[in-house]
Amino acid sequence: MAVPAKRAAVASSSSSASRSRRSRHLAFFSSLPQYVDSGDCTWVCEFCGAYFWYVERVGKFSRPGHLRYSHCCRDGGVVLPYPPAFDHQFVALYQNVTFMKDIRAYNSMFSMTSFGANVLD
Ligand SMILES: [Zn+2]
Repeated sequence: MAVPAKRAAVASSSSSASRSRRSRHLAFFSSLPQYVDSGDCTWVCEFCGAYFWYVERVGKFSRPGHLRYSHCCRDGGVVLPYPPAFDHQFVALYQNVTFMKDIRAYNSMFSMTSFGANVLD
């Protein structure tokens, strides 16, 4: 099928623009380091016990052997209360094999039961 000249020019420029964008993306991603290993997330905040990677330490307050992290609790300034204990019936649900086998179906079934709509008569 023959493409009119004007449409062919548009299609051609669109294709070359797409190819140019794709090549810019490839150039950008190929310029990035392929893999950076930050080690394991094993460093712990001394105040709240949150886990961090070594590179997340607060540089100017950290010393060798004593790393400081403040992104979690602002140096112990934020203390959250422990959540209340769950009801034993709720906990028993998660220990029920049948419930755990069918939990996906339960979630799907109840996902649209309350969506906050106001019904007008
Ligand atoms: Zn903390």
